[in-house]
Amino acid sequence: MIFSKKFVLADRVLQIAPSLTLAVNAKAKALREAGVDVLNFSVGEPDLETPAHVCEAGKKAIDDGRTRYTPAAGILELRQAVCDKLQKEQGWEYEPEDVQISCGGKHGLYNIFQAILNPGDEVLVPAPYWVSYPPMIQLACGTPVTVPLKEEDHFDIAPEILLKCATEKTKAIVLNSPSNPTGAVYSYEALAEVGKLAYENGWLIISDDMYEDLYYGEGKVPHILHVDPRLKAQTVLCNGVSKSFAMTGWRIGYSIGPRDVIRMMNRIQSQSTSNPAAPSQYAALAALTGPQEFPHLLREAFIPRRSYIVEALDALPGVTCVAPMGAFYVFPNFSAYYGRSFRGTTIDGSVSLADYFLSEAQVASVPGAAFGADDFVRFSFATSMDIIEKGMVRIQQALAALQ
Ligand SMILES: *Cc1c(COP(=O)(O)O)cnc(C)c1O
Repeated sequence: MIFSKKFVLADRVLQIAPSLTLAVNAKAKALREAGVDVLNFSVGEPDLETPAHVCEAGKKAIDDGRTRYTPAAGILELRQAVCDKLQKEQGWEYEPEDVQISCGGKHGLYNIFQAILNPGDEVLVPAPYWVSYPPMIQLACGTPVTVPLKEEDHFDIAPEILLKCATEKTKAIVLNSPSNPTGAVYSYEALAEVGKLAYENGWLIISDDMYEDLYYGEGKVPHILHVDPRLKAQTVLCNGVSKSFAMTGWRIGYSIGPRDVIRMMNRIQSQSTSNPAAPSQYAALAALTGPQEFPHLLREAFIPRRSYIVEALDALPGVTCVAPMGAFYVFPNFSAYYGRSFRGTTIDGSVSLADYFLSEAQVASVPGAAFGADDFVRFSFATSMDIIEKGMVRIQQALAALQ
Protein backbone atom coordinates (compact mmCIF):
# COMPACT_ATOMS: atom_id res chain seq x y z
CA MET A 1 0.00 0.00 0.00
CA ILE A 2 1.23 3.50 -0.86
CA PHE A 3 0.80 6.17 1.78
CA SER A 4 0.60 9.62 0.27
CA LYS A 5 2.96 12.09 1.79
CA LYS A 6 1.84 15.62 2.45
CA PHE A 7 2.60 17.70 -0.61
CA VAL A 8 5.02 20.47 0.28
CA LEU A 9 6.80 23.02 -1.84
CA ALA A 10 10.54 23.58 -1.68
CA ASP A 11 11.74 25.85 1.13
CA ARG A 12 14.09 27.72 -1.17
CA VAL A 13 11.19 28.65 -3.43
CA LEU A 14 8.85 29.60 -0.59
CA GLN A 15 11.35 32.15 0.71
CA ILE A 16 11.39 34.19 -2.50
CA ALA A 17 8.76 36.61 -3.82
CA PRO A 18 7.78 37.19 -7.45
CA SER A 19 9.51 40.11 -9.20
CA LEU A 20 7.70 43.21 -7.92
CA THR A 21 8.84 45.31 -10.87
CA LEU A 22 7.25 42.93 -13.37
CA ALA A 23 4.14 42.75 -11.17
CA VAL A 24 3.67 46.53 -10.99
CA ASN A 25 4.21 46.83 -14.73
CA ALA A 26 1.58 44.15 -15.37
CA LYS A 27 -0.89 45.90 -13.04
CA ALA A 28 -0.34 49.25 -14.80
CA LYS A 29 -0.81 47.66 -18.22
CA ALA A 30 -4.01 45.92 -17.08
CA LEU A 31 -5.44 49.20 -15.72
CA ARG A 32 -4.57 50.93 -18.97
CA GLU A 33 -6.33 48.21 -20.97
CA ALA A 34 -9.36 48.67 -18.71
CA GLY A 35 -9.50 52.29 -19.86
CA VAL A 36 -7.81 53.99 -16.88
CA ASP A 37 -5.47 56.81 -17.90
CA VAL A 38 -2.41 55.36 -16.15
CA LEU A 39 0.92 57.10 -16.57
CA ASN A 40 3.46 54.31 -16.41
CA PHE A 41 6.78 55.05 -14.71
CA SER A 42 7.37 51.44 -13.70
CA VAL A 43 8.85 50.16 -16.95
CA GLY A 44 12.34 48.77 -16.93
CA GLU A 45 12.90 48.95 -20.66
CA PRO A 46 13.72 51.64 -23.25
CA ASP A 47 10.66 53.12 -25.00
CA LEU A 48 12.31 53.10 -28.44
CA GLU A 49 11.76 50.28 -30.94
CA THR A 50 14.47 47.68 -31.62
CA PRO A 51 16.61 49.08 -34.50
CA ALA A 52 15.27 48.02 -37.93
CA HIS A 53 18.51 46.36 -39.09
CA VAL A 54 18.44 44.17 -35.98
CA CYS A 55 14.83 43.10 -36.63
CA GLU A 56 15.75 42.37 -40.26
CA ALA A 57 18.62 40.13 -39.13
CA GLY A 58 16.21 38.22 -36.89
CA LYS A 59 13.73 37.75 -39.75
CA LYS A 60 16.51 36.75 -42.16
CA ALA A 61 17.75 34.14 -39.69
CA ILE A 62 14.27 32.57 -39.75
CA ASP A 63 14.06 32.72 -43.56
CA ASP A 64 17.54 31.18 -43.84
CA GLY A 65 16.46 28.26 -41.67
CA ARG A 66 18.58 29.18 -38.65
CA THR A 67 15.81 27.77 -36.53
CA ARG A 68 17.50 24.74 -34.94
CA TYR A 69 19.50 24.12 -31.78
CA THR A 70 22.77 26.01 -31.55
CA PRO A 71 25.60 25.19 -29.14
CA ALA A 72 24.25 25.59 -25.59
CA ALA A 73 26.76 28.41 -24.97
CA GLY A 74 25.50 30.30 -28.02
CA ILE A 75 26.74 30.60 -31.61
CA LEU A 76 30.48 31.09 -32.06
CA GLU A 77 30.05 34.26 -34.17
CA LEU A 78 28.14 36.00 -31.39
CA ARG A 79 30.62 34.94 -28.70
CA GLN A 80 33.41 36.21 -30.96
CA ALA A 81 31.51 39.50 -31.47
CA VAL A 82 31.34 39.94 -27.69
CA CYS A 83 35.13 39.43 -27.47
CA ASP A 84 35.72 41.91 -30.31
CA LYS A 85 33.53 44.51 -28.63
CA LEU A 86 35.39 44.22 -25.31
CA GLN A 87 38.75 44.34 -27.08
CA LYS A 88 37.76 47.41 -29.12
CA GLU A 89 36.01 49.35 -26.36
CA GLN A 90 38.12 48.41 -23.34
CA GLY A 91 41.23 46.65 -24.60
CA TRP A 92 40.33 43.51 -22.62
CA GLU A 93 41.37 40.22 -24.21
CA TYR A 94 38.90 37.34 -24.12
CA GLU A 95 38.25 34.29 -26.28
CA PRO A 96 34.88 32.82 -27.28
CA GLU A 97 35.38 30.03 -24.70
CA ASP A 98 35.22 32.76 -22.03
CA VAL A 99 31.74 33.84 -23.15
CA GLN A 100 28.28 32.46 -22.55
CA ILE A 101 25.20 33.69 -24.41
CA SER A 102 22.14 33.33 -22.18
CA CYS A 103 18.38 33.92 -22.23
CA GLY A 104 18.71 37.59 -21.25
CA GLY A 105 21.24 39.07 -18.89
CA LYS A 106 19.00 37.90 -16.08
CA HIS A 107 19.54 34.25 -16.83
CA GLY A 108 23.28 34.82 -17.19
CA LEU A 109 23.29 36.06 -13.60
CA TYR A 110 21.16 33.11 -12.53
CA ASN A 111 23.69 30.73 -14.12
CA ILE A 112 26.59 32.49 -12.39
CA PHE A 113 25.12 32.05 -8.90
CA GLN A 114 24.20 28.43 -9.65
CA ALA A 115 27.76 27.80 -10.80
CA ILE A 116 29.62 29.34 -7.87
CA LEU A 117 27.57 29.01 -4.68
CA ASN A 118 27.60 26.27 -2.08
CA PRO A 119 25.00 26.24 0.72
CA GLY A 120 25.82 28.98 3.21
CA ASP A 121 28.11 30.96 0.92
CA GLU A 122 27.56 34.68 1.29
CA VAL A 123 27.33 37.21 -1.50
CA LEU A 124 27.76 40.94 -0.83
CA VAL A 125 24.98 42.91 -2.49
CA PRO A 126 25.10 46.71 -2.30
CA ALA A 127 21.62 48.06 -1.45
CA PRO A 128 19.50 49.57 -3.01
CA TYR A 129 19.93 46.55 -5.29
CA TRP A 130 18.35 45.27 -8.47
CA VAL A 131 15.32 43.18 -7.40
CA SER A 132 16.52 39.84 -8.67
CA TYR A 133 19.96 39.50 -7.03
CA PRO A 134 18.82 38.30 -3.57
CA PRO A 135 16.28 35.72 -4.83
CA MET A 136 18.74 34.39 -7.41
CA ILE A 137 21.34 33.95 -4.67
CA GLN A 138 18.77 32.23 -2.45
CA LEU A 139 17.70 29.89 -5.25
CA ALA A 140 21.35 28.84 -5.44
CA CYS A 141 21.23 28.16 -1.65
CA GLY A 142 23.51 31.11 -0.95
CA THR A 143 22.94 33.98 1.46
CA PRO A 144 22.65 37.56 0.18
CA VAL A 145 24.30 40.04 2.55
CA THR A 146 23.22 43.58 1.85
CA VAL A 147 25.76 46.37 2.00
CA PRO A 148 23.88 49.61 2.72
CA LEU A 149 24.67 52.55 0.44
CA LYS A 150 23.81 56.07 1.57
CA GLU A 151 21.83 58.66 -0.32
CA GLU A 152 24.20 61.38 0.96
CA ASP A 153 27.11 59.46 -0.63
CA HIS A 154 25.11 59.42 -3.89
CA PHE A 155 24.83 55.65 -3.39
CA ASP A 156 28.57 55.10 -3.84
CA ILE A 157 30.12 52.12 -2.03
CA ALA A 158 31.67 53.03 1.33
CA PRO A 159 34.60 50.61 1.83
CA GLU A 160 34.39 50.74 5.64
CA ILE A 161 30.74 49.61 5.53
CA LEU A 162 31.60 46.92 2.99
CA LEU A 163 34.32 45.63 5.29
CA LYS A 164 31.83 45.37 8.17
CA CYS A 165 29.54 43.20 6.03
CA ALA A 166 32.26 40.79 4.89
CA THR A 167 32.86 37.52 6.73
CA GLU A 168 34.97 34.42 6.13
CA LYS A 169 31.94 33.02 4.30
CA THR A 170 31.96 35.82 1.71
CA LYS A 171 32.35 34.25 -1.69
CA ALA A 172 31.45 37.03 -4.10
CA ILE A 173 30.36 40.62 -4.51
CA VAL A 174 27.85 42.04 -6.98
CA LEU A 175 28.62 45.39 -8.62
CA ASN A 176 26.03 47.22 -10.71
CA SER A 177 27.17 50.56 -12.07
CA PRO A 178 25.27 52.42 -13.48
CA SER A 179 22.77 51.00 -11.03
CA ASN A 180 19.18 49.96 -11.32
CA PRO A 181 17.36 51.44 -9.30
CA THR A 182 19.50 54.41 -8.19
CA GLY A 183 21.28 55.36 -11.44
CA ALA A 184 24.42 55.68 -9.31
CA VAL A 185 27.88 55.16 -10.75
CA TYR A 186 30.57 53.99 -8.32
CA SER A 187 33.60 56.27 -8.06
CA TYR A 188 37.10 55.14 -9.04
CA GLU A 189 38.15 55.64 -5.43
CA ALA A 190 35.46 53.29 -4.13
CA LEU A 191 36.16 50.73 -6.86
CA ALA A 192 39.87 50.81 -6.04
CA GLU A 193 39.08 49.92 -2.41
CA VAL A 194 36.57 47.25 -3.43
CA GLY A 195 39.13 45.81 -5.84
CA LYS A 196 41.78 45.67 -3.13
CA LEU A 197 39.48 43.83 -0.73
CA ALA A 198 38.32 41.44 -3.45
CA TYR A 199 41.88 40.70 -4.50
CA GLU A 200 43.16 40.13 -0.97
CA ASN A 201 40.22 37.94 -0.01
CA GLY A 202 39.74 36.09 -3.29
CA TRP A 203 36.13 37.19 -3.75
CA LEU A 204 34.60 36.61 -7.14
CA ILE A 205 33.38 39.91 -8.60
CA ILE A 206 30.13 39.87 -10.55
CA SER A 207 29.97 43.08 -12.54
CA ASP A 208 26.52 43.72 -13.98
CA ASP A 209 27.29 46.20 -16.76
CA MET A 210 23.83 46.24 -18.31
CA TYR A 211 23.66 50.06 -18.37
CA GLU A 212 27.24 50.81 -19.49
CA ASP A 213 26.05 52.69 -22.60
CA LEU A 214 23.69 54.92 -20.64
CA TYR A 215 26.21 57.02 -18.73
CA TYR A 216 25.70 60.77 -18.30
CA GLY A 217 29.25 61.59 -17.18
CA GLU A 218 32.34 62.19 -19.29
CA GLY A 219 34.22 59.36 -21.00
CA LYS A 220 33.79 55.75 -19.94
CA VAL A 221 31.98 54.52 -16.85
CA PRO A 222 34.53 53.71 -14.12
CA HIS A 223 34.89 49.94 -14.03
CA ILE A 224 36.38 47.48 -11.55
CA LEU A 225 38.72 46.14 -14.26
CA HIS A 226 40.14 49.66 -14.76
CA VAL A 227 41.43 49.80 -11.19
CA ASP A 228 43.48 46.60 -11.25
CA PRO A 229 43.86 44.40 -14.36
CA ARG A 230 44.73 41.39 -12.16
CA LEU A 231 41.06 41.27 -11.12
CA LYS A 232 40.15 39.94 -14.59
CA ALA A 233 40.94 36.42 -13.35
CA GLN A 234 38.24 36.66 -10.68
CA THR A 235 35.61 38.80 -12.40
CA VAL A 236 32.55 37.75 -14.35
CA LEU A 237 31.06 40.48 -16.53
CA CYS A 238 27.35 40.36 -17.13
CA ASN A 239 25.81 42.28 -19.98
CA GLY A 240 23.36 42.00 -22.85
CA VAL A 241 21.53 43.76 -25.65
CA SER A 242 18.23 44.30 -23.79
CA LYS A 243 18.85 47.87 -22.66
CA SER A 244 21.51 49.15 -25.13
CA PHE A 245 19.57 48.01 -28.22
CA ALA A 246 16.00 48.06 -26.88
CA MET A 247 15.82 44.26 -27.23
CA THR A 248 14.20 43.22 -23.94
CA GLY A 249 11.83 40.76 -25.61
CA TRP A 250 14.51 39.01 -27.67
CA ARG A 251 16.09 37.60 -24.50
CA ILE A 252 19.80 37.72 -25.24
CA GLY A 253 22.43 38.38 -22.58
CA TYR A 254 26.10 37.53 -22.36
CA SER A 255 28.52 36.73 -19.55
CA ILE A 256 32.29 36.82 -19.83
CA GLY A 257 34.69 35.53 -17.24
CA PRO A 258 37.13 32.91 -15.96
CA ARG A 259 36.88 29.91 -18.25
CA ASP A 260 36.14 27.36 -15.52
CA VAL A 261 33.18 29.44 -14.30
CA ILE A 262 31.86 29.87 -17.85
CA ARG A 263 32.30 26.15 -18.50
CA MET A 264 30.15 25.30 -15.46
CA MET A 265 27.57 27.89 -16.48
CA ASN A 266 27.42 26.18 -19.88
CA ARG A 267 26.94 22.83 -18.17
CA ILE A 268 23.98 24.30 -16.25
CA GLN A 269 22.55 25.88 -19.38
CA SER A 270 22.97 22.65 -21.37
CA GLN A 271 20.90 20.85 -18.74
CA SER A 272 18.23 23.51 -18.34
CA THR A 273 17.33 25.98 -21.10
CA SER A 274 19.80 24.82 -23.80
CA ASN A 275 20.68 27.64 -26.20
CA PRO A 276 18.82 30.97 -26.23
CA ALA A 277 16.48 31.31 -29.25
CA ALA A 278 18.57 30.99 -32.42
CA PRO A 279 16.98 33.87 -34.43
CA SER A 280 17.46 36.15 -31.41
CA GLN A 281 21.15 35.29 -31.37
CA TYR A 282 21.48 36.37 -35.01
CA ALA A 283 19.61 39.59 -34.25
CA ALA A 284 21.99 40.24 -31.33
CA LEU A 285 24.92 39.55 -33.66
CA ALA A 286 23.62 42.29 -35.97
CA ALA A 287 23.27 44.61 -32.97
CA LEU A 288 26.88 44.08 -31.84
CA THR A 289 28.51 44.07 -35.27
CA GLY A 290 26.32 46.59 -37.16
CA PRO A 291 26.06 50.39 -36.87
CA GLN A 292 26.69 51.50 -33.29
CA GLU A 293 24.72 54.75 -33.09
CA PHE A 294 21.61 53.34 -31.43
CA PRO A 295 22.90 53.33 -27.83
CA HIS A 296 23.99 56.96 -28.36
CA LEU A 297 20.55 57.91 -29.68
CA LEU A 298 19.01 56.29 -26.62
CA ARG A 299 21.29 58.21 -24.30
CA GLU A 300 20.58 61.47 -26.14
CA ALA A 301 16.85 60.85 -25.83
CA PHE A 302 17.14 60.31 -22.08
CA ILE A 303 19.25 63.39 -21.25
CA PRO A 304 16.45 66.04 -21.30
CA ARG A 305 13.98 63.69 -19.58
CA ARG A 306 16.50 63.02 -16.84
CA SER A 307 17.06 66.74 -16.20
CA TYR A 308 13.36 67.47 -16.17
CA ILE A 309 12.32 64.67 -13.80
CA VAL A 310 15.17 65.24 -11.33
CA GLU A 311 14.34 68.93 -11.11
CA ALA A 312 10.61 68.31 -10.77
CA LEU A 313 11.05 65.75 -7.99
CA ASP A 314 13.71 67.70 -6.15
CA ALA A 315 11.42 70.75 -6.14
CA LEU A 316 8.69 68.87 -4.23
CA PRO A 317 8.59 69.87 -0.57
CA GLY A 318 10.31 67.28 1.63
CA VAL A 319 11.52 65.18 -1.32
CA THR A 320 15.19 64.68 -2.17
CA CYS A 321 16.37 63.23 -5.46
CA VAL A 322 19.96 62.35 -6.31
CA ALA A 323 20.65 62.97 -10.02
CA PRO A 324 21.30 59.58 -11.63
CA MET A 325 24.65 59.33 -13.42
CA GLY A 326 23.45 56.49 -15.60
CA ALA A 327 20.56 54.18 -16.61
CA PHE A 328 17.01 55.56 -16.89
CA TYR A 329 15.71 55.64 -13.33
CA VAL A 330 15.37 58.18 -10.57
CA PHE A 331 15.11 57.13 -6.96
CA PRO A 332 13.65 59.98 -4.89
CA ASN A 333 13.32 59.83 -1.11
CA PHE A 334 9.71 60.29 0.07
CA SER A 335 10.17 59.29 3.70
CA ALA A 336 9.13 62.78 4.89
CA TYR A 337 5.58 61.79 3.88
CA TYR A 338 5.50 58.51 5.79
CA GLY A 339 3.02 58.72 8.65
CA ARG A 340 0.71 61.07 6.76
CA SER A 341 -2.68 59.85 5.60
CA PHE A 342 -5.38 60.15 3.00
CA ARG A 343 -9.06 59.49 3.86
CA GLY A 344 -8.04 57.62 6.97
CA THR A 345 -5.38 55.41 5.31
CA THR A 346 -1.89 56.00 6.58
CA ILE A 347 1.09 55.92 4.24
CA ASP A 348 3.47 53.73 6.20
CA GLY A 349 6.17 53.11 3.61
CA SER A 350 7.04 52.81 -0.06
CA VAL A 351 4.51 50.07 -0.84
CA SER A 352 1.53 52.06 0.42
CA LEU A 353 2.87 55.27 -1.17
CA ALA A 354 3.25 53.61 -4.59
CA ASP A 355 -0.26 52.13 -4.18
CA TYR A 356 -1.55 55.59 -3.34
CA PHE A 357 0.16 57.09 -6.41
CA LEU A 358 -1.47 54.41 -8.56
CA SER A 359 -4.99 54.60 -7.14
CA GLU A 360 -5.24 58.37 -6.54
CA ALA A 361 -2.94 59.81 -9.21
CA GLN A 362 -2.98 56.97 -11.77
CA VAL A 363 0.81 57.01 -11.72
CA ALA A 364 2.58 53.64 -11.72
CA SER A 365 5.93 53.52 -9.91
CA VAL A 366 7.88 50.83 -8.07
CA PRO A 367 8.17 50.91 -4.26
CA GLY A 368 11.75 51.12 -3.00
CA ALA A 369 11.07 48.15 -0.70
CA ALA A 370 11.49 45.96 -3.80
CA PHE A 371 15.10 47.16 -3.96
CA GLY A 372 15.79 46.95 -0.23
CA ALA A 373 15.27 50.70 0.38
CA ASP A 374 11.85 51.58 1.80
CA ASP A 375 12.44 55.36 1.96
CA PHE A 376 12.38 55.57 -1.84
CA VAL A 377 10.20 55.01 -4.89
CA ARG A 378 11.62 54.25 -8.35
CA PHE A 379 10.47 56.14 -11.42
CA SER A 380 11.65 55.15 -14.88
CA PHE A 381 12.10 58.01 -17.34
CA ALA A 382 12.12 55.68 -20.33
CA THR A 383 8.84 57.28 -21.30
CA SER A 384 7.76 60.37 -23.24
CA MET A 385 8.39 63.92 -22.01
CA ASP A 386 4.65 64.51 -22.19
CA ILE A 387 3.98 61.66 -19.74
CA ILE A 388 6.79 62.83 -17.47
CA GLU A 389 5.39 66.37 -17.32
CA LYS A 390 1.84 65.19 -16.61
CA GLY A 391 3.02 62.59 -14.12
CA MET A 392 5.03 65.06 -12.08
CA VAL A 393 2.01 67.35 -11.76
CA ARG A 394 -0.08 64.43 -10.54
CA ILE A 395 2.56 63.41 -7.99
CA GLN A 396 2.76 66.93 -6.69
CA GLN A 397 -1.03 67.08 -6.26
CA ALA A 398 -1.18 63.65 -4.65
CA LEU A 399 1.50 64.57 -2.10
CA ALA A 400 -0.23 67.88 -1.35
CA ALA A 401 -3.47 65.98 -0.63
CA LEU A 402 -1.83 63.98 2.17
CA GLN A 403 -2.75 65.10 5.67
C1 LIG B 1 17.41 44.74 -17.16
C2 LIG B 1 18.51 44.29 -16.26
C3 LIG B 1 19.19 43.07 -16.41
C4 LIG B 1 18.89 41.99 -17.41
O1 LIG B 1 17.96 42.19 -18.32
P1 LIG B 1 17.55 41.09 -19.40
O2 LIG B 1 16.27 41.61 -19.92
O3 LIG B 1 17.42 39.78 -18.71
O4 LIG B 1 18.64 41.05 -20.42
C5 LIG B 1 20.23 42.78 -15.56
N1 LIG B 1 20.58 43.64 -14.59
C6 LIG B 1 19.96 44.80 -14.41
C7 LIG B 1 20.44 45.69 -13.32
C8 LIG B 1 18.89 45.17 -15.21
O5 LIG B 1 18.25 46.32 -14.98
